[in-house]
Amino acid sequence: MEASFAEVVFPRTIDRPFTYRIPPDLGHLVKIGCRVLAPFGPRRLTGFIVGVKASTRLADSELKDIHDVLDLQPLCSDELYRLARWISDYYLCPLGDALKAVLPAILFQKSRQYVELVAENISSLGWMLKNAAPRQAQIVRYLSKSGRLPVTQLMKRIGARNLMSSINDLQAQGFVMVQHVLPKSQVKTRLARFVRLNPEITGAEAWNQQVDGGRKLTARQIRCLQYLKETGAEISQKDLLFISGIGLSTLKSLQKRSLVELYDKESERNYYRHAEIVEPPKIILNEEQKSAFEQVAAAIGKNEFSTFLLHGVTGSGKTQVYIEAIYVILQTGRDAIVLVPEISLTPQTVQRFRSHFRDQVAVLHSAMSPAERYDSWRRLKSGEARVAIGPRSAIFAPLRQLGLIVVDEEQEDSYKQADPNPRYHARDVAVMRAKLNNAVVILGSATPSVESYYNAQIGKYQILKLPRRVDDIPMPKVEILELQKEQRLSGKKEMPVFSRLLAQEIDKRIMNQQQVILLLNRRGFSNFIKCKDCGFIENCKNCQIALTYHLRGRRLRCHYCGYTKKAPEVCPECGSADVLFRGLGTQRVEEDIKERFPSARAVRMDLDTTGRKWAHDRILRDFERGKYDILLGTQMIAKGLDFQKVTLVGVINADIGLFLPDFRAGERSFQLLTQVAGRAGRKNLPGEVIIQTYSPFNFCLVCAKTHDFVKFFNKEIEERRELLYPPFGRIISILFKGKDEKKVMESAGNFAQVLKSEKVPFQVLGPTPSPLVRIQNKYRWHVLLKGSKRLDASGKLLRQAVRTAEKKFREDFKVRGIQIAVDVDPVSLL
Ligand code: ADP
Ligand code: ZN
Ligand code: ZN
Repeated sequence: MEASFAEVVFPRTIDRPFTYRIPPDLGHLVKIGCRVLAPFGPRRLTGFIVGVKASTRLADSELKDIHDVLDLQPLCSDELYRLARWISDYYLCPLGDALKAVLPAILFQKSRQYVELVAENISSLGWMLKNAAPRQAQIVRYLSKSGRLPVTQLMKRIGARNLMSSINDLQAQGFVMVQHVLPKSQVKTRLARFVRLNPEITGAEAWNQQVDGGRKLTARQIRCLQYLKETGAEISQKDLLFISGIGLSTLKSLQKRSLVELYDKESERNYYRHAEIVEPPKIILNEEQKSAFEQVAAAIGKNEFSTFLLHGVTGSGKTQVYIEAIYVILQTGRDAIVLVPEISLTPQTVQRFRSHFRDQVAVLHSAMSPAERYDSWRRLKSGEARVAIGPRSAIFAPLRQLGLIVVDEEQEDSYKQADPNPRYHARDVAVMRAKLNNAVVILGSATPSVESYYNAQIGKYQILKLPRRVDDIPMPKVEILELQKEQRLSGKKEMPVFSRLLAQEIDKRIMNQQQVILLLNRRGFSNFIKCKDCGFIENCKNCQIALTYHLRGRRLRCHYCGYTKKAPEVCPECGSADVLFRGLGTQRVEEDIKERFPSARAVRMDLDTTGRKWAHDRILRDFERGKYDILLGTQMIAKGLDFQKVTLVGVINADIGLFLPDFRAGERSFQLLTQVAGRAGRKNLPGEVIIQTYSPFNFCLVCAKTHDFVKFFNKEIEERRELLYPPFGRIISILFKGKDEKKVMESAGNFAQVLKSEKVPFQVLGPTPSPLVRIQNKYRWHVLLKGSKRLDASGKLLRQAVRTAEKKFREDFKVRGIQIAVDVDPVSLL
């Protein structure tokens, strides 16, 4: 076929390819999956070639020429391209956006490109090219003077048109080499402030002189110095202030007296590469592991697409099964992807895989710089590395022959990209990508998602079970502590942070030099009304989710369907008059810890403290080394590491998570509590979990107490069936954002009207304000679509309806200043 025309898509909102003429001299370079420069209106944009064809119905005057071809080889394989197409179709986003997600970010940043002459005999090369390719000869001539030049400089001297393609041609023949170099600012390392004891005062004599005797120091200052001396290490200023309870000015005055040193230090980079590789321990799989592994190996042997759900409690040896499966896949000459939630991508996890597969492992971590990620990407694309490990986006690893995908902790919400486009779920993309490659998928979890477990029940996935912990450590004892009783007994008006039982148990651990994890659910962003006496919380009668309390008008509102009613003055269940609820902030818990356990060394870990690259990693490592007694944190501490000395896990208040306005609130709470319970107890040190709550008879808690996933699932699945929630129905959320609330409201309303006029089997819920109605000065309203899978199994009708409606809406209502975000299968509706 004579390819004369190229179809090009751009990473913009216009969701269709544009046709361009291919100038004759670029013909041989145009390949699907390469980037091109092409004129687009008054601008010149980078787009992707998604198709080539011999003819077009467009008139010549409507066509423009491709300006240049930027890549020598297609950036994405045919297989990845097909995956991007599926993503664009399924998640209702432009193909250009999907392609952009599939490729490394660096390719879209202003990197500096250098061309370097690598040919041997330059003068004869010049002659050879002079007639055949005068432009190439020109480039060689310029390069022969300096050896290496930035592309921009060449552009200035000989013009931009077709420059890259000529360079690519030269590169293909081995005469030059092109390198991407990022501007300095991109690879800048972050600095953090650290503190250490002045080394000169660590000796006993100096210590006596400077600290104990002579100079006047406050008790707190001494405590702080003593802490630094005991640990003998540096510590970040932030952590130190928290642990010692001193203020910044106090610390500064210690610095003035030369007792401590403050300095900035680079946060760690190249974290993984420099770590030493150790021999992996020899492990013989136990019966259950063997059986699971053999089923996976058989599927690999058949070269057929299949999906396994590996349901195994924490510490049951799931990872060992993944590792054995990777050995098999590498032997067959194929490659593997291992997805782990961001938080579990610790050096320990990576080391475990690297100790087995050495340099064949490439890590793709979002905390790596774009250049580092690009480096991993290149190693995978060239076949040098064959096991990609990383969070969500690693599902797009450019492997040559994909054979196995592992999704660890498959129930994790972080696998879903919330923003921006494409709003994909990496677990579902994994299953799709495996299908395109006849590959095998292992979804692993201690608490599978309701959707995946259901898929296993109906035979879509094959279930594999590891019901016991490897070393047969018993599951920890879980105690549910009723807070209203506690409050009554304490005689105080305010809700207690620590019940007497929890406080007692914490004291015990500190005394015995064991460790404690305290879980504080994310603060309630939206308030709900709860009876202080009986714990009653009102649900929407249509949607079974907790109604949210709005101060304005004192009303309760459902964030799914928009149902609203006046907030009750007294509890409808027990008639008590005390019904308002307020969440508990981290701050107050921190203060309480300091007050009640003054000798304890505590550290907090949540989004605020872990903004810095690798910061949470350091906190976890320090905790593991015994630098702290108490680790306080949000859900993020529930997963990840195994700590040998943690024997108590306390959940300060389980209710906040239980009553989030989301149909998955119950599922998430169950998962969280089960995971957090899995953190307690090791060999010879039995664990204990104390869950504080006002709703002691809540089903999730009751199931978490007995570690009974199946019981929880059986009830949950019936509720979902009744209300057509996933996996029985499909949800698409359409979010409207804008500065003008009235306009946002109207747009959502108009959109809902357009949707309602379509004759397809689904419900249109809303519009309603989002639970987080205002973020960064923008108002947010949403419309939800709920379709039944019985009537529309693949969701095709539903998606088509949204596409049509969006088009019609944009044409009919020409609104400005409103952003619309379509989220298919949303995991959060905040
Ligand atoms: P999971 O991934 O289910 O949490 P892991 O695979 O991490 O479990 O196993 C937990 C611990 O038990 C690890 O330290 C691992 O090395 C060890 N382990 C796994 N399988 C075996 C086995 N068959 N025999 C002995 N130790 C094992
Ligand atoms: Zn009540
Ligand atoms: Zn409702």
